[in-house]
Amino acid sequence: MAIPDSTPPAASAAPNPLAVYTAGVLLFLFIPVVLFLFVRHPAPVGVSLAAGVVLMIGHRFIARPYMERVRESKCLWCNRVPPREPVELELRAAGGRTVAARCCARHREPAARFFSFLHLWRWPLRLGIFLPLLFLLTALAVSAAGQPAPVPFATNWFKLVVGITVNVAAFGYLAAREHSPVEVPFPVHNFFLLGVRNLLWIFRLVGIWWIWQGISSLF
Ligand SMILES: [Zn+2]
Repeated sequence: MAIPDSTPPAASAAPNPLAVYTAGVLLFLFIPVVLFLFVRHPAPVGVSLAAGVVLMIGHRFIARPYMERVRESKCLWCNRVPPREPVELELRAAGGRTVAARCCARHREPAARFFSFLHLWRWPLRLGIFLPLLFLLTALAVSAAGQPAPVPFATNWFKLVVGITVNVAAFGYLAAREHSPVEVPFPVHNFFLLGVRNLLWIFRLVGIWWIWQGISSLF
């Protein structure tokens, strides 16, 4: 479905690529900031924990409008503004909500395969993120309350399990096939910030670094 860039309504006016990239990077930076607050938990731990939770919950309220603003003007896979020979990729997000994304003609296929893989593996992937996160946040909360808590162990366990989980996502899709409809079992706006391809490189590199740190901590 080609998108003419001269269509009159304001909604389809060509956006400034630099502004789109910059806003995406700034919104993405919330994620490493939250991870820093949880994983490094600078003292006082209670303040780091509370700030991380507030940022984590609040992020969606600015990341979702960003997604709505850019989803028709950049490639969901490679982040290019505008996509080359744009095609539509219809995503089924939480609650059955439909999000019409755009991709370069040749990037629709890897994006559809990636989300199909996420959907197929959604429970192991969810547990691989949620359980270590819950363990770490609980340990931080107990520690902030002045009680003994296994914070270093929970931190290393978090890095190891999350590192493995994101690498399963970043490499596993290579062996996957597209399933229709393309469902997204995680907050969909996060995939629009840097484009999926860039996000997966961050998953691979940070994930491998965390796996290394997690394993090293065991010995
Ligand atoms: Zn692309």
